[in-house]
Amino acid sequence: MGQMSTDRPRLHREPAVSLPPLVEPVPELTTDEIRRYSRHMIIPDVGVVGQKRLRNAKVLCVGAGGLGSPALMYLAAAGVGTLGVIDFDTVDESNLQRQVIHGQSDIGRPKAQSAAESIREINPGVEVVIHDTALDRENIFDIFGGYDLIVDGTDNFATRYLVNDAAVLLGKPYVWGSIYRFDGQASVFWAGEPANGPCYRCLYPEPPPPGMVPSCAEGGVLGVLCASVGSIQVTEAIKLITGIGEPLVGRLIVYDALEMSYRTIKVRKDPDCVLCGPNATQTELLADYEDFCGAVSVEAQEAAADATITAADLAEWRQAGKDFLLVDVREPAEFEIVRIPDSVLIPKGDITSGEALSQLPQDRQVVLHCKSGVRSAEALATLKAAGFRDAVHLQGGVLAWVNQVDPSLPTY
Ligand SMILES: [Zn+2]
Repeated sequence: MGQMSTDRPRLHREPAVSLPPLVEPVPELTTDEIRRYSRHMIIPDVGVVGQKRLRNAKVLCVGAGGLGSPALMYLAAAGVGTLGVIDFDTVDESNLQRQVIHGQSDIGRPKAQSAAESIREINPGVEVVIHDTALDRENIFDIFGGYDLIVDGTDNFATRYLVNDAAVLLGKPYVWGSIYRFDGQASVFWAGEPANGPCYRCLYPEPPPPGMVPSCAEGGVLGVLCASVGSIQVTEAIKLITGIGEPLVGRLIVYDALEMSYRTIKVRKDPDCVLCGPNATQTELLADYEDFCGAVSVEAQEAAADATITAADLAEWRQAGKDFLLVDVREPAEFEIVRIPDSVLIPKGDITSGEALSQLPQDRQVVLHCKSGVRSAEALATLKAAGFRDAVHLQGGVLAWVNQVDPSLPTY
């Protein structure tokens, strides 16, 4: 029996803005279910009827990664009747630092299957639906259509805008979260009735310029941050399903793990939102979300067009004793993990700001590389514009080098 604190401070609260429950209750719970969920049902706000609503709820989790792991585990434990898992990735060793729904023996297995097994172990009463596919504009309406609520645990802007646009067009609520290093954000986006709240585009009308916001794979993330943000998402999902409390509609939570602070920022519905505003111009999904978010900027694409070498080329150049300077444009922490021999470190920001250009030789060819080839292409565009005409960059970055030339090196 756990300890329960009874000395909860009685703070004055503004009257809550509530929404009606999203899901109708099932008629009955079994005796087993009543035993299992008793700690929920004795909370007056949840009660038997709240648990019956959870039992009848169908929730889809987009991604079984950092946020999807804790989200799926707690949704399962809470007794959500049907859980959809969509992920087409496989479990990698570098996932295990935060993706706690997977274990050592799952390395190499599809994440959706590994997650489904963990869910069944936590709660065999949950019906798990595996979507072992990538979400795209062709399948998203079909897949979303089967669920009451979406929990978004995606890690890239293209999928994030796709999820938002489909949810808004279907009038469905979704709980969004994002994580980076020590910082987390979460909100509930529900532009349809009865919430009439803002959508993701109201908050972020345009994706950030390519290369401006590093992914967790490039910038890192504190593993436990996923639990902090994922648990906020599950809390909001439970509140929406059961109709209790004040949902996070129109508010953004900003969590700072280093300060250990949560700030709440009001998010207003943007009257000019192209998707959910009164004069919305976007009435269907975009043709290409990758293109919309531009994995690599136009300048970088042009710079790299005839100035890209492969890892095999680089290995040959080294063997042939060709004279060039190999510049690693990643961050110092990444350089510590793995590096290509004889490379020098000059982070991308120092190149694109122009600060480090004087450190580069005019009389030797410069070869740029990063982790996967995006940042080096951006830096290459700066170099070309500054007159380094024979500069090139390495396709696929240090990951390609490890995969194709020296598999004894670690990847991250
Ligand atoms: Zn909007």
